[in-house]
Amino acid sequence: MSKSPQDVLSQIKDEGIELIDLKFTDIHGKWQHLTLTSDMIEEDSFTEGLAFDGSSIRGWKAINASDMSMVPDASTAWIDPFYKHKTLSMICSIQEPRSGEPYDRCPRALAQKALKYLDSTGIADTAFFGPEPEFFLFDDVRYDSKEGGCFYSVDTIEAPWNTGRIEEGGNLGYKIQYKEGYFPVAPNDTAQDIRSEMLLLMGELGIPTEKHHHEVAGAGQHELGMKFDSLINAADNVMTYKYVVRNVAKKYGKTATFMPKPVFNDNGTGMHAHQSLWKSGQPLFFGEGSYANLSQTARWYIGGILKHAPSFLAFTNPTTNSYKRLVPGFEAPVNLVYSEGNRSAAVRIPLTGPSPKAKRLEFRSGDALANPYLAFSVMMLAGIDGIKNQIDPGDGVDVDLFELPADELAKIDTVPSSLNDSLNALKADKDYLLAGGVFTEDFIDNFIDIKYEEVQQLRQRPHPHEFFMYYDA
Ligand code: GLN
Ligand code: MG
Ligand code: MG
Ligand code: MG
Repeated sequence: MSKSPQDVLSQIKDEGIELIDLKFTDIHGKWQHLTLTSDMIEEDSFTEGLAFDGSSIRGWKAINASDMSMVPDASTAWIDPFYKHKTLSMICSIQEPRSGEPYDRCPRALAQKALKYLDSTGIADTAFFGPEPEFFLFDDVRYDSKEGGCFYSVDTIEAPWNTGRIEEGGNLGYKIQYKEGYFPVAPNDTAQDIRSEMLLLMGELGIPTEKHHHEVAGAGQHELGMKFDSLINAADNVMTYKYVVRNVAKKYGKTATFMPKPVFNDNGTGMHAHQSLWKSGQPLFFGEGSYANLSQTARWYIGGILKHAPSFLAFTNPTTNSYKRLVPGFEAPVNLVYSEGNRSAAVRIPLTGPSPKAKRLEFRSGDALANPYLAFSVMMLAGIDGIKNQIDPGDGVDVDLFELPADELAKIDTVPSSLNDSLNALKADKDYLLAGGVFTEDFIDNFIDIKYEEVQQLRQRPHPHEFFMYYDA
């Protein structure tokens, strides 16, 4: 049962809660927060919001128009487990204080608009998302420019008899090798208790959890499994997931990173996203007897995803580092095709049983630095565009694309190879995002400006590996 504003107000009184922590997501997908004394929250707060100064939030308002309003969502309330003082936390959307309109640069408000648009098309009334964010845990991180500029965890460094390198720092037995992290038991797996604590804590905060495990990368890569949920809830859950992961890691003297490719030559970090559309409680993606039992609606949705992926990758893979993950050979799909069961395709149709409810597709290229509100919205909007324009996705491709000969592979579309390229693709292909007024031109232009700046930041700096290749060339 999700909490109502009334429930939250009673909880504050009954449990003697002194402080309220309001959390909201910025454009980059990072939580920001403001703590208020609990007497600041009234019934009106849940509709009118609470005022704050938005001028210093990255990518938001200018100084001359900085007043904004945070509107807490009562259904997201939980006691923050990382604070000393009893504090009730709530996730917020941002609105304009005078008009009460959603702030059009607020990602969560934008996702709410995207759902209204979905409903207005008459195609569906619900979009479910099942995100799978991965992450690395590092303890003593250091830099090794000889190996192409990668970070290592001393805890998980590869054994010297493989690399010929002798590392300082004690016993290197039981270290997991590159790409062999999935998933031997302890003592190779050193993070069992940390992951258990993360998963159980997420459960206590109301996120339906399923499992946890070490991931493929040798250097301490992990995944916690959550159940799918409706778009906003699923995005809220990703935010809470990251918060729990980072804070439990810190408690153990480690840091967690969601960077897509922190370690050279090992698997990167993805955020696969399972998705399906429903209407009046009925699933729309099942069509008995066709390829992968996909309905026509699902096929067109896939058509939209494959068509617009080069553009929406700017949101699902929004960093310069994202494109270091999107290379062949590391389970990160680079080919814009769909397939039943084939993990080397950008869109995989998981093999599910006869139940129409389980029929879904999994977009595998996205990564965990994506802002989940934006990432889920852009994928859904691409899918809606596919359905509206009946975009045919062609045939499913069942060969292992990582093994395909070069001339065959050359015929298959691939994802952009840099953030710069996907930003250019976004510039050229954005009508599907502007449909129904979900995205504004301002939002997209502002996002592109912010991200071009990151591209420039990196472009202007000599890379450590350039010293390896060129220093005394
Ligand atoms: N880490 C892989 C990726 O980059 C996925 C591995 C998996 O979940 N099978 O997408
Ligand atoms: Mg998984
Ligand atoms: Mg995984
Ligand atoms: Mg997956």
